[in-house]
Amino acid sequence: MSNLRLRLLSYVIMVYMLMAFAWWSMLLFTKNQDAFSAKRDLMRIGMVAEGRVKNQSEFEQMPEYQTLAKKYKRQERMIFGEATMFVLTLLAGLWFINQGYQKQERANQQRRNFLLSITHELKSPIASIQLVLETFLRRELPKEKADKLATSALRENERLHELVENLLLSAKLETAYQPIFEELNLADLLEDLMAKSADRHPEAVIALEKPDDFPLVKMDKQGIISITTNLLENAIKYADGKPEIEVRLFQENDKVVLEFADNGPGIPEREKKRIFEKFYRIGSEETRQTKGTGLGLFIVQQIVKAHSGTIQVLDNQPKGTVFKIVIGY
Ligand code: ADP
Repeated sequence: MSNLRLRLLSYVIMVYMLMAFAWWSMLLFTKNQDAFSAKRDLMRIGMVAEGRVKNQSEFEQMPEYQTLAKKYKRQERMIFGEATMFVLTLLAGLWFINQGYQKQERANQQRRNFLLSITHELKSPIASIQLVLETFLRRELPKEKADKLATSALRENERLHELVENLLLSAKLETAYQPIFEELNLADLLEDLMAKSADRHPEAVIALEKPDDFPLVKMDKQGIISITTNLLENAIKYADGKPEIEVRLFQENDKVVLEFADNGPGIPEREKKRIFEKFYRIGSEETRQTKGTGLGLFIVQQIVKAHSGTIQVLDNQPKGTVFKIVIGY
């Protein structure tokens, strides 16, 4: 049975239960009142016959009547309380079913998006590399042109390699990722990675702000490489003009702080949490201009977590995003 049908069926059952319970509650309520009236009348007739009371108001003063009235009032409250509890429990059940359904729907949508984007991501470098190789086979090319083509094919191959690495890493992060902590010169490593990024994207301006000397820190080198590469690539990929990126490294309360600030379009408030979900990408696959799989920030967050650190998304001024990572060392 499809998800939607199951959901509808569960709603129908819940509504039926609600109506049935409302009916039973009403019935119980009136039966309780009837039983009370019958007992009260019987008691009054008995008391009148015994000559203990003469009228209604004398009867209502009698302790026997008051005990009886209290008992039935308590039963009334119990029926009402139980009914309320039952309705609340049912409503909570409905809410949970709905939440679960929406979560599953979102996961399905993300998986569909992922398949669409991964197919595209794999197809385009493969097609480019094939074209380059075919050109080499068919024609004698002047050295300069051959070099240019080979460089572009290498770049495409690098993209493929990174994509496969990201896929493998994201699978590993959920099961078998064990960070290997080693002493790192973070500033040098960052400079190295930034130079590589700048090489690949000559249009981008990437600057590092750091104190004159920074202590060695114990972190997982591959993890830090992955965090930095993913955040730099994103800052360049989502830029809506000339990308200007500032990487800041400093210490705060005995912790290492790493900030990646860009001048891109920024991230809307409602998306700031969701962008870390696996396969999640802002917007829809049909309208999106940029390439990606929705794995990058998931990987970044998992690695930060493995370092017992935190990652925050902040707004940059006057525009753009700042990813702030805080890790103890
Ligand atoms: P991908 O880049 O493959 O889509 P990510 O997990 O790296 O996946 O990013 C998730 C989403 O977050 C992206 O689709 C993008 O919309 C948004 N995003 C990430 N980094 C930035 C950034 N620096 N500026 C604006 N949007 C960003």
